[in-house]
Amino acid sequence: MDCIFCKIINKEIPAKVAYEDDNVVAFHDINPQAPIHLLIVPKKHITSVMEIDDEENLLLGDIILTAQNLARENNLDKKGFRIVVNTGEEGGQTVNHLHFHLLGGRFLTWPPG
Ligand code: 5GP
Ligand code: ZN
Repeated sequence: MDCIFCKIINKEIPAKVAYEDDNVVAFHDINPQAPIHLLIVPKKHITSVMEIDDEENLLLGDIILTAQNLARENNLDKKGFRIVVNTGEEGGQTVNHLHFHLLGGRFLTWPPG
């Protein structure tokens, strides 16, 4: 499948991996928008939030706990951080493999652009 994140998961292209287990991988974004910008990605190819189904409950829990652990490891737990899931064209999604951005290390403005 021609999916850049599947290629990273399959080690066909390199990435700076911060965490990996059987179901989830987290790696540094190639074009960081904050001092800490990690992408937390299920190994299963799910196209977007809209393609998540009931059986993904545990996987989603794993992803949030991974975000929590990575936030702690990067000293963001006290300062704060943001988890973002862009979805679809107007949501700004550019890679059609579900991913959670973990952003932190600077003051993040609201509303987003
Ligand atoms: P989206 O725009 O879909 O919410 O997020 C996709 C993210 O993937 C972008 O922030 C982009 O910089 C990142 N990205 C795209 N291609 C690669 C790549 O080959 N390696 C890494 N590490 N990040 C990538
Ligand atoms: Zn994929």
